[in-house]
Amino acid sequence: MSDSSIVLSLPDQPREFGFFVDGSWSPIESREVFERFSPGHGVPVTRIPKCTDADLDAAVNAARKAFDDRRWSGLSGADRAAVLLKAAEGVRTRAEEIAYWETLENGKPISQARAEVGGCVGMFEYASGLARSLHGDSFNNLGDGMFGVVTREPVGVVGVITPWNFPFLILCERIPYILAAGCTIVAKPSEVTSATTLILAEILHDAGLPAGVLNVVTGSGSTIGQGLIEHEQVDMLSFTGSTAVGRRVVEASGKSNFKKLGLELGGKNPQIVFADADLEDAADGVAFGIGFNTGQCCVSGSRLIVERTVAEKFASMVAEKFRKVRVGDPLDERTQVGAITTDAQNTTIMGYIEKGRAEGATLIHGGEQLDFGHGQYIAPTLFGNVTSEMTIAREEIFGPVLTVMPFDTLEEAVAIANDTEYGLAASVWTKNIDKALVVTRRVQAGRFWINTTLSGGPELPIGGFKQSGWGREAGIYGVEEYTQVKSVHIEIGKRTPWVA
Ligand code: NDP
Repeated sequence: MSDSSIVLSLPDQPREFGFFVDGSWSPIESREVFERFSPGHGVPVTRIPKCTDADLDAAVNAARKAFDDRRWSGLSGADRAAVLLKAAEGVRTRAEEIAYWETLENGKPISQARAEVGGCVGMFEYASGLARSLHGDSFNNLGDGMFGVVTREPVGVVGVITPWNFPFLILCERIPYILAAGCTIVAKPSEVTSATTLILAEILHDAGLPAGVLNVVTGSGSTIGQGLIEHEQVDMLSFTGSTAVGRRVVEASGKSNFKKLGLELGGKNPQIVFADADLEDAADGVAFGIGFNTGQCCVSGSRLIVERTVAEKFASMVAEKFRKVRVGDPLDERTQVGAITTDAQNTTIMGYIEKGRAEGATLIHGGEQLDFGHGQYIAPTLFGNVTSEMTIAREEIFGPVLTVMPFDTLEEAVAIANDTEYGLAASVWTKNIDKALVVTRRVQAGRFWINTTLSGGPELPIGGFKQSGWGREAGIYGVEEYTQVKSVHIEIGKRTPWVA
């Protein structure tokens, strides 16, 4: 890729997509349409059908039939792996196209979108190995008359609801693993970012995935999403999004068929910086942790907790990084921080910034909308003099807004870090290994980073403690999540009679 300033052009007209059920595309004609405007440019870029309840039923029925007739779960792990490997190749081949539409619908920088799509290739490759290595357990210690086996079976039809912040990455942290387990799928992307999910359906179809194994329905959360979470024929629901909708998912499961749930919800993630850290490294990591994806990450490091002796100096170092970071047109290859994805989110973030000011926090940097003549942008924002009662210290902002709080002792740092209903992710920055390990053990979070942040990959699991969710995605844990275990007792030889 070139380092010169290449700005890709906008499409001449919006690209139209159909939706995908039982191996066939349903065209957009004769349906209500959602037109998506690029948040970075304010022009229409995609047109996506609004599915009906009947479309949803058709998708679930197709997934149900494909699961029940074992056209996918009945294949060997090696055969499933072959499809996943071809899909990995398909994602690699179409990476530029996927990154382009992801950027247009989401507003993230094109360089970031490319890196994410590259990571998704690895998800498919890694999951293909898991399709072959997935296995149960055996018990050869039950005495001469008995042998015990524990098998893993795919859980069934899985509904996958994904948010708008990482439409392709979050999808690929789930779909390859669900397929590796042998399940069938009905996916519903966020209405505002459906394009790349539909492209993935095409890639998997071309890779030889049998009809009905992956179906994609499009439309709003309150209609199609709600229908999916309530559906009696869906065995498991993987939901990624807000805690508020997460609660509705739990309710819907209880009111319908007790479908198994995987939930990845919000976060208010601490970044603990000790005075003995490499402060230059830490300032860069902290700026990245909140600037990446304009802070619209469930794992954004949004609460900076710094040892008091260096707190002021460190805040200035982070502010300096914010000054230098390149905010702007997502299609410009130099851009590091792109647009805010939705109007509603833009309003929410600006509301939190106002609240921070009103509650007495000191604005150290940013706090304003940036005007590039197109789209919606917010400057990376840093608040000092923050106390743990303030709204900006407690609620997930989901934007490029960082709060700083000082601490005097390790115990105090841990207490501040844990003073939240969430438990998704956390980072610690120190050159003292003892401190790093003590903090890692005591902070309640499903993902932990030492002297780094936002690192990830196909091997290590993703998921939250506390109200950040249930279950794990990715790694071997991510495949096991989509299985259920069956215990099998096998009598050897003649049974001891019950009736003499
Ligand atoms: P939502 O929880 O509303 O949306 C996430 C997904 O759920 C989308 O596909 C959405 O569809 C769908 N959905 C919405 N309502 C329902 C419903 N009743 N039943 C089933 N599915 C539904 O998140 P938002 O997009 O509104 O974002 C709001 C907040 O959520 C953010 O500010 C952030 O705090 C959090 N969030 C967390 C994410 C994470 O990765 N943990 C990701 C995104 C958001 P549609 O978009 O079409 O309405």
